[in-house]
Amino acid sequence: MRTPLVAGNWKMNKTVAEARELVSTMSAKLGEIAIVEKVLCPPYLVIPALVEMLRSAGIGLGAQNLHWEEKGAFTGEVSPGMVKEFCQYVIIGHSERRAYFGETDESVNKKLHAAMKAGLIPIVCVGETLEQYEAGATSEVVRRQIRVGLAGIDSPQKVVVAYEPVWAIGTGKASSGENANFVHQQVIRPALGELFGAQNAEAIRILYGGSVTAANAAEFFAYPDIDGALVGGASLKPDEFVAITKAAVRS
Ligand code: PEP
Repeated sequence: MRTPLVAGNWKMNKTVAEARELVSTMSAKLGEIAIVEKVLCPPYLVIPALVEMLRSAGIGLGAQNLHWEEKGAFTGEVSPGMVKEFCQYVIIGHSERRAYFGETDESVNKKLHAAMKAGLIPIVCVGETLEQYEAGATSEVVRRQIRVGLAGIDSPQKVVVAYEPVWAIGTGKASSGENANFVHQQVIRPALGELFGAQNAEAIRILYGGSVTAANAAEFFAYPDIDGALVGGASLKPDEFVAITKAAVRS
């Protein structure tokens, strides 16, 4: 049985004061939702300010990125060890990083190895662009992202994969639950099975991300291969995020 996970990606939003206020409005309600693993991923500079608040509410803390090197002359970067000082999770290969900062499946793979070596739980994002979707290339694109991005890791059960079709991120145009479940079940899990064996693939959580809201969350979580959500915009709205997390409780 895979424990559902709901993670909020705040992207480049919230100062320390704003972040504290946001967390204080939802931490108690989130803390009451047992069974679902809850994670918030604020900007780096906000992370230390939230450690105690989130720990006492049973909410995990994640970074939105990391560099694969342990230390050195990499101006502006943050190492896995630095992330691990405060966080348990890290998002890797978000489509915005792939689109605006040149991340590739190869760099995703380096980051994944480094994150796992540091003891972090990685949330690895995959997903096709609108052009690829319209060309019917979803399976091919996502398979490659899994095959190259997740190659060679030792404890695959610890990895979390987030299927985030780029055309659904921040657009208000979510995938249907049926389409997302199809990609999870027929594309991602078999690709994970080829890399790590069917038993390990069964244990890996696959989240859906892309315009998840309180109104559509239950549709996704009704499908057996959708193990939670990576939530962007709606994670900045306390009532929405709490409702999405509640919807992830499997009956
Ligand atoms: C995201 O940033 O990963 C995301 C899914 O954003 P949104 O929920 O706003 O589409």
